[in-house]
Amino acid sequence: MLRLDGVSHSYGDETVFRDLSLDVDRGEVVAAIGPSGVGKSTLLRTLALSLEPDDGTVALDGTDAWTAEESARLAMRRRVGMVFQEASLFDATVARNVEYGLRIRRSWRERLRSGARSLVGAHEPVDAVRDALDVVGLSEKDTQRAASLSGGEAQRVSFARALAYDPDLLLLDEPTSDLDPRNTAVIEAAIAKARSRDIGVVVATHDMHQAERVADRVAVLLDDRITEVGPPDVIFENPANERTRKFVSGELVY
Ligand code: ADP
Repeated sequence: MLRLDGVSHSYGDETVFRDLSLDVDRGEVVAAIGPSGVGKSTLLRTLALSLEPDDGTVALDGTDAWTAEESARLAMRRRVGMVFQEASLFDATVARNVEYGLRIRRSWRERLRSGARSLVGAHEPVDAVRDALDVVGLSEKDTQRAASLSGGEAQRVSFARALAYDPDLLLLDEPTSDLDPRNTAVIEAAIAKARSRDIGVVVATHDMHQAERVADRVAVLLDDRITEVGPPDVIFENPANERTRKFVSGELVY
C-alpha cells in the first residue's frame, strides 16, 4: 500500500537517513526499532506525508505523493492516522475527543454538517466512537472528562481517536513508552485489532520486546539507514546483518 523508495532526509547539514526503502501493506504491523535519535520519528513523518524527502519517492497505492497535485496529497494524508508518545486531548468528554477524529475526515465532516445520519463508510459516527472506545476498553468512560483520565487512559483515547478515523495506515510513535504494563497491553491488543481490520500499522519503538510481540516485520534503523527488515524471529534470533546483530544483542552502545 505505502512504499518508500530511495528516500533521504536531512535537517540542514545533518543527514538522518539516506536511500531508505520500505513497504507497508494493509493488515500488517511493521515495527521500526533503533536507538534514540536515529530517525524513527522522521521516518514516521515521512510515511505520514507531512515531511517531503530530499530524495526518493513516497507512493500510496502506486501514486507518488510528492509529484501529485497538492489536493491529491492532502487526500492521501487523510488516509493516515497518527498516535504520538504523549496524548493531546482537549477539555471535553472522552467521546467528544474520539469523535473529533471523525470530524477531521472531510467526507464525514460534510455529511455531519448536512445533518445526515447515515455516513459513507462502515459506521454512523456514534457507532464508530463506541466501537473505537470498545477496542481500547473505555466504553464505560465515554462521558467522563478527558482531563480526569490517567496518562495511560488518555493514550488509549488517542488511539481510539485515530482508529475511529478509519485510516488505511496507522502510525504510532513510541505509543507506550510512558505507560505501565497494563495500559501497554491494552494498546498492543488494539494494534492487533487494527491489523485484523486490514489497517497497515507502523509502530516506532525503542522497546525490542514490544517489537517482538506486535510486529509481523521489524525494520532496524541504525546510523543513517535500515540495516535489515524481516520477521521478528529472524531479526532477534538470526539476523543476517552484523550491525543488526550487535544492536539487538545490546553490543552497540549509543
Ligand atoms: P528518533 O525518533 O529515532 O529519536 P528523530 O527522527 O526524532 O529520531 O530525530 C533524528 C535526528 O534528527 C536527531 O538527531 C534529531 O535531533 C534530529 N531532528 C529531528 N527533528 C528535527 C528538526 N525538526 N530539526 C532539526 N533536527 C531535527
